[in-house]
Amino acid sequence: MNPIYYNPMIETINRGELDAIIEEKISYTVKYAAEKSPFYRKWFEHHNMSPSSIKSHEDLLELPIVSGELIKNNQPPKTNNFNFLSSDWSDIFTVHETSGTSGTPKSFFFTWQDWMRYAEKYSRSFTSQGFGKADRIIMCASYGMNIGAKTMTLAARDLGMTIIPEGKCTFPSRIIKSYQPTGIVASVFKLLRLARRLGQEGIDPKKTSIQKLVVGGESFADESRKYLEEIWGCPVYNTYGSTEGTMCGECNIKNGLHVSEDLVHLDVYDPESGEYVKDGECGRIILTTLLSPGEKCGTLLINYDTEDTTAVLARDKCACGRTHMRIMNPEREAETFWIANTPFSRVDVERGIFQRENMDYLTGEYESFLYDKGNGITSLKLILECLNKRLCDRELVEDNFLKGAFEYKPSLREMYNKGKLVLDLDLVKAGEIEARKPKGRPVRIADYR
Ligand SMILES: [Zn+2]
Repeated sequence: MNPIYYNPMIETINRGELDAIIEEKISYTVKYAAEKSPFYRKWFEHHNMSPSSIKSHEDLLELPIVSGELIKNNQPPKTNNFNFLSSDWSDIFTVHETSGTSGTPKSFFFTWQDWMRYAEKYSRSFTSQGFGKADRIIMCASYGMNIGAKTMTLAARDLGMTIIPEGKCTFPSRIIKSYQPTGIVASVFKLLRLARRLGQEGIDPKKTSIQKLVVGGESFADESRKYLEEIWGCPVYNTYGSTEGTMCGECNIKNGLHVSEDLVHLDVYDPESGEYVKDGECGRIILTTLLSPGEKCGTLLINYDTEDTTAVLARDKCACGRTHMRIMNPEREAETFWIANTPFSRVDVERGIFQRENMDYLTGEYESFLYDKGNGITSLKLILECLNKRLCDRELVEDNFLKGAFEYKPSLREMYNKGKLVLDLDLVKAGEIEARKPKGRPVRIADYR
């Protein structure tokens, strides 16, 4: 049996002691920022404030929210130096850039201790999902400038696991036959495509050596996960991580993602009011790296705005025994659009598509677009790939889609009934969406209004 916890003392610590550790780390982290980061040094000088006045979680909101834009405005070519660089170059182990949609990418600097902190978060998460010694994992995440695949690989070293660093999910089925891997890390759609490809080769994914799947890097509807679990015949666990700083992971209970609260401080706030939201309410995720006395950090960010949204589900003990807080599956704000006064996201679209009955007819691949049809009418164009276009039950697919997509959006259902929102469904052949986008990713949801 593998251990249940990677770091039992800290993962099962009681709330009072955990909060005390967090406050102690906040004090050290803010002091470190004021000493080592040109950005924060100037900020404290300019505001004539002492770093020692920031002591608690509530005090952190005294400090600015750090947006991607603010980081870009504090690095070349905008400034001569990297103002968020917070260690001496001799302590910087690697430099990473995050792919921005436009302009210069953001730069991130990592010390070896940063690497170890990231790896520890993954070690805890893998352990909570039942991975451990002798597990073999195919890594279908990029080993380029992204830090996820590499820090997960580093975590494997500490857990006695083997990593097969494919990077992409297009590896030959021989890899599964030859190495008998027990897990795969990939995205929902990559795992769907892999299962389809194996099926075409006469291999049933359920009968392979795979025992667990880990998906990361995107939010998904419960319906998508259920379908993936069905075709692979094993549990699918979610993780959430980014170069900027957090890795949260679901434990085997699958009731929210645990945040390693002693390593990263995650707050949920409302950008309109600038206040924290209450537990259970949805808001923007802001992150603060937490350092222990003596630790170094390459790019120290306090209140980093991820532009992702979530809600805190619980801060009490989980059925797995961990006391660290659990959050809802985060969603990207960039994938959420407003129809009248209701948010509508990629996850809502997928909730409609992945209704179980639909999956007898669909591959799961899709694209969706919002158009303005004039006269106050919004059109949702939905392109769906069918397993067999001729046999696809259009009416059933359409009904199920509407049922799922509007399940939590009664006002959109009402708009639909009144003809203010129309669905323009386009069924295409299997492989057609992928064929049309040989390089780029399919457009899951785009707003052309
Ligand atoms: Zn748990």
